[in-house]
Amino acid sequence: MPLAPGSTIGILGGGQLGRMLALAAARLGFDVVVLEREADSPAGRAAAKLIVADYADETALAELASFTGVVTYEFENVPASSVRWLAARGVKVAPGARALAVAQDRFEEKSFLNAHGAPTVAFAPADTPQEAYQAVLNIGVPALMKTRREGYDGKGQRWVERVADAAAAFEALGGVPVIVEAAADFVRELSAIAARGRDGTTAVYPLAENHHEHGVLRRSLAPARVSKVLSDQAERIATRVLAGLDYVGVIGIELFEMADGRLLVNEIAPRVHNTGHWTQDGCEVDQFEQHIRAIAGWPLGPTHAIAQVEMLNLLGDEAEAWAKYAAEPETRIHIYGKRGAKPGRKMGHINRVKSL
Ligand code: AMP
Repeated sequence: MPLAPGSTIGILGGGQLGRMLALAAARLGFDVVVLEREADSPAGRAAAKLIVADYADETALAELASFTGVVTYEFENVPASSVRWLAARGVKVAPGARALAVAQDRFEEKSFLNAHGAPTVAFAPADTPQEAYQAVLNIGVPALMKTRREGYDGKGQRWVERVADAAAAFEALGGVPVIVEAAADFVRELSAIAARGRDGTTAVYPLAENHHEHGVLRRSLAPARVSKVLSDQAERIATRVLAGLDYVGVIGIELFEMADGRLLVNEIAPRVHNTGHWTQDGCEVDQFEQHIRAIAGWPLGPTHAIAQVEMLNLLGDEAEAWAKYAAEPETRIHIYGKRGAKPGRKMGHINRVKSL
């Protein structure tokens, strides 16, 4: 049975993705309850109700469970055990614990991808300095060493230029389990935002072309100019990943476009994604509404582009230029309501829209 307007949706996490999910859910007539550690958060201020607690706090999880029809999460470092705890008590959680667990561990993630026909760079796990040395020797240099868990926005990773540096790189990353990846000599970074409904229907948005600065997304252009062969390839990858995870909701799939035309998957994010923000002003149903539709058991909405969009992240104090952006007729402004503008922090984004 689809969840009817008037029902309540729970969100684990209080960041900007939660905020935009809450706004989309409210538009469809749902009430949102956010469970978040911070008393003052972007999502908390857009929700009908806020529970301030740790994501693993069972009393808080039980409270969340008591009034929600379905629970989702807005970032991938929510403990998979919390999602399992909710699911074990009969609460519908989407996406499920499997997707979360796979996305939380870079080795599990790449192993899953390869097993489901989604190609990646060559990789090897390492738990000790000796294994790190052997892994770099096998993969070849330059290699990228990444912590298996808890890396984001380019954090928790180091380039290894010489095999002799492998053990030192391992120690510099904290001596925690890592994955060693071959360097992807990509020509472009693209991403596919895709959705799968409760009935297994899938829908994929046009690809976005993404540009990073210091490991953080700066700019997306969408729809990216790509051949039909390339977009078909991305669609095949997305469909396999979604089916392999028995996924419900929106997923972000980061891709490397190689010189020979192949797409490799860099990583998957089991949630709405920064590179999908363009859909807010470039599509009839954006990624946030799409996610709410999927987890509520509604039919998925259309995913074709109705405009060409340039999405720019507003980092640090850049959101203070809101008045300048407000004066541009082609610019749509999305500000997250975060209190402190630390350098590099994602404070908002703008979508510059051109008709197709
Ligand atoms: P990640 O944290 O895995 O999303 O990586 C952050 C960024 O580092 C990516 O967007 C790429 O620009 C770059 N990167 C990640 N993995 C590789 C790789 N194997 N080869 C080359 N560049 C990479």
